Amino acid sequence: AKQDGRNTFRFFEPAMDAALQRRRRLEHDLRNAIRKNQLYLDYQPQFGLSEGQLTGYEALVRWWHPTEGEIPPSTFVPIAEETGLIVPLGEWILKTACTYALGWPSDTKLAVNLSPAQFKTQDVFDLVRRVLVETGLEPERLELEITESTILQNTDQVIETLSRLDQLGVSIAMDDFGTGYSSLSYLTRFPVRKIKIDRSFIDTLGTNEQTSAIVSSIVGLGQSLHVTITAEGVETEGQAAMLKRWGCDQVQGYYYGRPEAEVPANPLEDVPLDRNVA
Ligand code: C2E
Ligand code: CA
Ligand code: CA
Ligand code: CA
Repeated sequence: AKQDGRNTFRFFEPAMDAALQRRRRLEHDLRNAIRKNQLYLDYQPQFGLSEGQLTGYEALVRWWHPTEGEIPPSTFVPIAEETGLIVPLGEWILKTACTYALGWPSDTKLAVNLSPAQFKTQDVFDLVRRVLVETGLEPERLELEITESTILQNTDQVIETLSRLDQLGVSIAMDDFGTGYSSLSYLTRFPVRKIKIDRSFIDTLGTNEQTSAIVSSIVGLGQSLHVTITAEGVETEGQAAMLKRWGCDQVQGYYYGRPEAEVPANPLEDVPLDRNVA
């Protein structure tokens, strides 16, 4: 068995080597990219479903690698998290997005993703307050998207941080809702103002009875708990119609608008005309 094990190991070695080397290279390049400002942000619009009004934008980080082209955040954010680069990266994202949002109408909110690793390695409250002071963005315009894994780790410290942010006027949204190991009980212990139903549930709306039941129940839960419900990854008119019928508050997805690098400073039309759901 030992012999087998060694053979197996040797067999996979070159492939592992290549993966490891690519990772090391990406880590090195990411460090440079942060320093040289080679990253940028896309902004994806969010709309109120009953009136079709623009409510805000979510900032999404992008990396255009000089030789490899676009590298998705699902590849480089985990590298940043494991190497500690998430601290300078997260700070750059927050500062850049808050500065950009100053050019929007004052009722337009900005949503920024925070990684669980940021809560582990730094005082997120200090970071957010400092960036708000430096940029001059009103705290009420900022929404921070966190995931269930943030809440599961280090609970006391996270409760404290989120409560202080809430008192400051910054709101907290629970991202990717339904995918994590969630007990729902945290909704009573944390100041969560918004729940974003994960795209994987929206994807199969209409084709899968169970997901329809789950999504309509989450919408009902939001109404009873007075938590705003946003559906993410809405791609079709059919999905939009169901969400509207159930009373879902907000929507985000390709059907309404893709993430874009520049967004108009004064968007006159809210929901694009051919996407009118009213
Ligand atoms: P997320 O926070 O759940 O972001 C939503 C993702 O869904 C984005 O992918 C967005 O482009 C995509 N999306 C939006 N609408 C649709 C749709 O209708 N259909 C489909 N198929 N996709 C849609 P993206 O930009 O590739 O980001 C992936 C993940 O990377 C994010 O998931 C988030 O977890 C992470 N990420 C992105 N930007 C940041 C950031 O600035 N900071 C941190 N910490 N994580 C980020
Ligand atoms: Ca998000
Ligand atoms: Ca999400
Ligand atoms: Ca997601």
